[in-house]
Amino acid sequence: MRIIVQKFGGTSLSTKQARNQAVQHIKRARQEYDAVVVVVSAMGRNGDPYATDSLLQIIHENGDSLPSRERDLLLSCGEIISAAVLCSILRAEGIPSTVLTGGQAGIRTDARFGDARIMKVIPARITASLKCGEVVIVTGFQGSTADGEITTLGRGGSDTTAAALGAALQASLVEIYTDVDGILTADPRIIQDARPLPAISYHEVCQMANYGAKVIHPRAVEIAMHARIPLRIRSTFSFSEGTWVMDPALLPQYERVSDRHVTAIAHTQGLTQVQVSAESHQPDLQVQVFQAMAKAGISVDFINVNPSGVVYTVRDSEALRAKTILEELGYAPELNPGCAKVAVIGGGINGVPGIMSKIVSALAAHHISILQSADSNTTIWVLIHQDEMELALRALHDQFALSER
Ligand code: ADP
Ligand code: ASP
Ligand code: MG
Repeated sequence: MRIIVQKFGGTSLSTKQARNQAVQHIKRARQEYDAVVVVVSAMGRNGDPYATDSLLQIIHENGDSLPSRERDLLLSCGEIISAAVLCSILRAEGIPSTVLTGGQAGIRTDARFGDARIMKVIPARITASLKCGEVVIVTGFQGSTADGEITTLGRGGSDTTAAALGAALQASLVEIYTDVDGILTADPRIIQDARPLPAISYHEVCQMANYGAKVIHPRAVEIAMHARIPLRIRSTFSFSEGTWVMDPALLPQYERVSDRHVTAIAHTQGLTQVQVSAESHQPDLQVQVFQAMAKAGISVDFINVNPSGVVYTVRDSEALRAKTILEELGYAPELNPGCAKVAVIGGGINGVPGIMSKIVSALAAHHISILQSADSNTTIWVLIHQDEMELALRALHDQFALSER
């Protein structure tokens, strides 16, 4: 059985017109594949009645009073409403369809409410319905524990549901439908002439997702990469090709893609740079600092350790706690809040001379100072001040001519 998994995001289901567009894609998939599994997000975005953020807003005034188990119960409702509404449209059009919650679809997770990990998928109920010719609509972003507790998979987790079902069902393809024409060379909200990429490797898109490109959840990419299931990210509102994400070796047109050095630019805001200088009487500085951050559950990034001290970033929201902990240890940390990390990503960067020089020149031309930098074989990161971020993104996008094919 050739199975396709199609995931529709919140904006793809927010209005009657959008839902009708989604149904067109489902109809087309029914003609091209033997079986169709549809994964849905909650309808709309913050402010829309049943969007995840709107559900959170209802309990906002009560602070943190709701335990995470009950919070997950609340959050799971958005996707259930969305799935039932879509089912009603398909049924009205004479398309046999059924709805399964994450738990009913066999998505077993650990009990980390709010950010649960999928432990296994037992897709027996899905397969049985598919064999009856039904379109199976699964509520995204949720699963259940072995004890039947409802869990959610972390914000943006419907993508993860789609990839996990794709892997468990050995689907031919997982399609992620959203409100943009695929994966673009940069966030289109900042770079108006960002261009949709015809194809990109799992690794590149993983880097993009990890460094701020919200278009797909990084865990979804990891699952698809591991199971070698091709992903296609495309718009609900058009029939344009979108972006293929797959193993470079499997995609003939990818050859052209590997000729490029830089593929895309991503960004993360809201970071504080923390610097702790070494002094002669503090020989275990490195051990002490990182042990203390780990013990406090503060996630550290962009780490640079050298004999004169350590420098790293934390989320702005954790900065004060990090400072207090370091001061209690007897250090005098310097904090630089309001920073942004910009990632220049490309599978073809490795070993190519001159990329860093181009980055530095583009930023220097706009008097943007680099506070820190790091690199891997596919990505170069720079830390800059957040108020210069948009300018930096535009300068780098132009420098690497990313809007040109
Ligand atoms: P959905 O509700 O469909 O899951 P998301 O809001 O999670 O949609 O993700 C889609 C959004 O991701 C787009 O509207 C776009 O603003 C944003 N985005 C950020 N970076 C990129 C990028 N490089 N390419 C495409 N979209 C991006
Ligand atoms: N509705 C959930 C969220 O807003 C999951 C998703 O959209 O993927 O985070
Ligand atoms: Mg999303």
